[in-house]
Order: sequence, then C-alpha cells, then structure tokens
Amino acid sequence: MSTATPAGPATPADPDPASPPSPWTRKHLLGLEELSREEITAVLDTAESFSEVSNRSRKKVPALQGRIVFNLFFENSTRTRTSFSLAAKRLSADVQDFTASVSSISKGETFIDTARNIEAMGCDVMVVRHPTPGAPHLLSQHVQSSIINAGDGAHEHPTQGLLDLMTIRRAKGKIEGLTVALVGDIAHSRVARSNIWGLLKLGARVILCGPPTLVPRSLERLGCEVAHRLDDVLHRCDVINVLRIQFERQQRALFPSVAEYSHFYMMTQERVRKAKDDLLILAPGPINRGVELTPEVADGKHSAILDQVHNGLAVRMAVLYLLGGKAPEAE
Ligand code: ASP
Repeated sequence: MSTATPAGPATPADPDPASPPSPWTRKHLLGLEELSREEITAVLDTAESFSEVSNRSRKKVPALQGRIVFNLFFENSTRTRTSFSLAAKRLSADVQDFTASVSSISKGETFIDTARNIEAMGCDVMVVRHPTPGAPHLLSQHVQSSIINAGDGAHEHPTQGLLDLMTIRRAKGKIEGLTVALVGDIAHSRVARSNIWGLLKLGARVILCGPPTLVPRSLERLGCEVAHRLDDVLHRCDVINVLRIQFERQQRALFPSVAEYSHFYMMTQERVRKAKDDLLILAPGPINRGVELTPEVADGKHSAILDQVHNGLAVRMAVLYLLGGKAPEAE
C-alpha cells in the first residue's frame, strides 16, 4: 500500500519553537477511551518521528538509556511482546521479559505481589497483558512504575488501536470523514474497542459488522452504526479492519459454523472488487487465512497488514518515549 505521511505538528526529531507543547502529560497508557483527540494525535505525530528513526542506518536513540522496561505477559503474544521489546531496545532501555507460566504465580504468588517484586528490581515501565479486563488499571494503583496496557481481556488494546490509526492516517492522509468498518467478533475484541474510541475521537464514521451474536445492536449507543450483512455496507467503506473470531473468549457457539461465518463475512477478492478502488484492508493478527480473509486478500494490494506491524514499532517507541523518555537526537 502506498503511504502519504501527513504534515503533522513538530515532532521530537524536528523541534519547532512556535508549535504548542505536546498535550501528553499522562503517566500510564491504559486505554484510548480516556484519551482526548489531542493526546491521540500527539502519539501519532511522535510515532511519525520514530518511524523516521527506523529508516536510519543506526536505529538506536538514547531516549530511555538507564531505564528498565519489564514485559509482564499473562497471555500469549507474538507481535505485541516482540514489538515492545524491540521498541524499548531501540530507545536504549534495558528490557526484561516475564512469563507467567514459568513464574512464582504458579506457586501462589499474587499478581500485585509479583509486580511489586519486579518493581523492587528497579523497573520504570511495565508493559502488561492480562486476560482480566482492568488488570493494568489495578496495577497502576499499586506500583510506582508507568503502566502500559498491552491488552486486558476483551476490554482494550490501546497500542493496537494507535497503530491501526497510524496505518490509516499514513495511507489516506487523514482519518476525519472516513468510513471504517470493523468486521467480525466485536463483542469479544479488545482491538475493536480501542479502534472504536480512537476512530470516533478522530472524526471517522464507524460501522460494526458481524452476526447479531457477535455485534449486538446495543453497541450503537457508542456512536457506531451496526450492520449484520457485510455486502450491504461494503461499497461505503474506505477501510475494513478484519477482526479474528475470539474463540478463546467465547463460552458457547455463537454462530452455526465457521463455514457459514466465512460465507457472510470473509473478505474475498469478489468482495474487494465490489468495494471502493482504494479500499484499505487491516487485520490485527494473528490472521486465519480462509476464515476471516482469503490468502489472496491478505497478500493483495489493498492489504496493509505488514504496514501495521511496521507502524506498531514506531507507535510503541512513541508511547515509551512519552511516558518518560527524551527526544531522539538528529543524526
Ligand atoms: N493480537 C490481537 C490481540 O491480542 C488480536 C487477536 O488476538 O485477535 O487482541
């Protein structure tokens, strides 16, 4: 997908004394629901600056030199944990991974005691993923470190929401006025919730599309349109974000079969042909080829799936930096 970087306000790599100071003053990043439009824009603009750092021959900047970042993951992760680790390393922090399955949690230690012990080793930032909604919020009340929510149950996944926004803004040059459909398992998706808050605050129209059991009408109260037939709304979409069915969070069968789900909601080449010529297709990953989208669509020219992964690194550098780093120095 071609990219058009918007000319945002000054970034740390490009200081402009005439520009207003960054509106970011928070200690934690717990969700996009509580962020203002200005705060979200500040993260996206800062991420653009760190994206430029990734193109340099020397990709490391000293912003977090001497700081310690802990990854506390109580749920599986591929992209998010790796991306946070690499982001922290590029900012020159020391990074330590903590894996719940091989820790003293299995000997009965509580979540908060574990975090306090980690903090006693000198931790500055904790990146927390947990199956219970609100777990990072709870931790933020019991430790001194900055907390970044890396996914709490079906609640929020703010850095995924931010990297999706960055990918849309780069490809389309704006977010305001776009129509974005989130397709699939909205009810159990933390990615959906972070996208909804971020997109609405930046002025997009949001369509939530999927079977009634996964997309209840009550979601309209968030300010979104709800649709149960993808073919009815396809032609209006500038962006489609294809979400994975969260089988691990469903307590019972919520649709007759995967084959039937795919028949109504899978992004296929035929559906792409019926959509706008410049349709942008996102998927947070892991993708299930042949369930939520076909291999041709996943690898096709409308897909920005790998751009999302690339932008995720810049977004996570930006978030770590805004929670306590220093500006990248011009090379
Ligand atoms: N990787 C994303 C998450 O952790 C999306 C998914 O798992 O479907 O929520």
